[in-house]
Amino acid sequence: MKRVYTATDIGAHRRNNEDTLACIEPETYLVADGMGGYAAGEIASRLMADAAVEVIGARKNVDEAVLREAVLKANGDIRRLAGEKPEYDGMGTTATLFHRDGLTGVWAHVGDSRLYLWRQGMLHQVTTDHSLVSELVAKGTITPEEARQHPKRNVITRAVGVEKDIKIDTGSFPLQSGDGVLLCTDGLTTVLTDEGIGEILADPSLMDKARALVDRALDAGSRDNITAVFVSYDD
Ligand code: CA
Repeated sequence: MKRVYTATDIGAHRRNNEDTLACIEPETYLVADGMGGYAAGEIASRLMADAAVEVIGARKNVDEAVLREAVLKANGDIRRLAGEKPEYDGMGTTATLFHRDGLTGVWAHVGDSRLYLWRQGMLHQVTTDHSLVSELVAKGTITPEEARQHPKRNVITRAVGVEKDIKIDTGSFPLQSGDGVLLCTDGLTTVLTDEGIGEILADPSLMDKARALVDRALDAGSRDNITAVFVSYDD
């Protein structure tokens, strides 16, 4: 049996919610975090979701190549619109997609949104952030805690819709009964540690994990839009 929980919140400090989430039946999920002036961020993340619905919705079998194709289509769509309207110049979005194919989870990813695997009470980050602070953490220049406070924590090194040639990470892993997957934007992970997220996922009194995570991020003072999708698989 599958349970799906989704939540998104504009947060206390923003005038727009530039995050988009999508559940593409039966088994694909997406979060996207847009950027750009005026309403461009909202449009970029929405174009990412629309491209995913169009590409993935038309396929019987979804694999890494299909998820990649959805991101490539969005990259072209966003660049085309940005080329037509000066106010959309430079807009882009993150994209993190997850699909379950039987006993296998497949994913595609660009930017600093995240896919986590929740297994037997342990949280594992599946994707790597394409961000300046993530590179500094990998080099050992700063700690993950310092990354959360870093003045340049919002600088991402890859985004959908910005350049013609886009590098897309994809991967797959075996799923087990009892696994959960979490897709979320940086509005969540900037204020909650992996330990903090794990505490909420492990708390049996909190049924709607997505809402609980977003509420906790709001309580923690997130200044950003916050989005979470949690899917649990119990067979
Ligand atoms: Ca964000």
